[in-house]
Amino acid sequence: MVQGDRYFETLHNAYGQQFSIDKVLFESRTEHQHLIIFDNAKFGRVMALDGMIQTTEKDEFIYHEMLTHVPILAHGNAKRVLIIGGGDGGILREVTRHQSIEHVTMVEIDASVVEMCKTYLPNHSNGAFDDPRVNLVINDGRDFVINCQDKFDVVISDSTDPIGPGEALFTSAFYQGCANCLTEGGILVTQNGVCFMQLDEVTTTDSRLSPYFADRSFYRAAVPTYIGGDMTFAWASDNAAVRQHSIEVIRQRFAAANIETRWYTPELHVGSFALPRYVLDALGQ
Ligand code: SAM
Repeated sequence: MVQGDRYFETLHNAYGQQFSIDKVLFESRTEHQHLIIFDNAKFGRVMALDGMIQTTEKDEFIYHEMLTHVPILAHGNAKRVLIIGGGDGGILREVTRHQSIEHVTMVEIDASVVEMCKTYLPNHSNGAFDDPRVNLVINDGRDFVINCQDKFDVVISDSTDPIGPGEALFTSAFYQGCANCLTEGGILVTQNGVCFMQLDEVTTTDSRLSPYFADRSFYRAAVPTYIGGDMTFAWASDNAAVRQHSIEVIRQRFAAANIETRWYTPELHVGSFALPRYVLDALGQ
């Protein structure tokens, strides 16, 4: 929420972060949500939806690399990827770095987010929307996966928080739809909030995934503008082995992928699945 020359995030009532607004680049109420993109001296260009920080130029690489390279390198032979949400194009940029990927479908509910991020956050997508492997669909991600006849090796849900349009992407129907979209050995990963601040979202996601996926877990990365602790990513597949590769296997696959990163390393890949005691206790593990 804008107050004078400052932006106040309203994700949490009792706690929050604020940014100086050096310049508002775009602000509107789209068909689905309030969208603002502004310049900030510390984080560069910042995009927020409905009062929730979505992404910043300064720290986006952490989140986009971890939500993309962990499942793709763990899978080891992914050819087709489905991205749900991801309107800023950061996930799409990272997925298309993998030459082994043959097709990407991206299902984003709000065309304005895509257009405004192409314009004001061009480095996020860095031309990925023009990649011939990419099929952009403007639709609700839950409707898409429920009705989808195609199959994908990796599904990445890069959604807003479970408020407003994003709420649909944290439902059992969505997770069941994702399970139906996955090939044998396929992997689902999702944005699942900051576990210290949103622990109930971790336990709720785990219970909602459980009827459809034999193996469920979470992994973490510290993203400064997702405040209050580590960003937690949900992980689901039918085979625990894909989550538990040795560091040697991940190193080999990362070297073969021949991609440059600024955060992701094979060591962080393996280590990111180590969860704090309080999260394990909440999950009954
Ligand atoms: N990295 C951010 C985070 O962790 O909160 C998410 C970034 S991305 C901008 C989130 C995208 O999800 C937005 O573009 C939003 O329009 C999209 N979205 C929200 N609900 C959706 C739905 N039901 N179907 C498809 N896309 C949706």
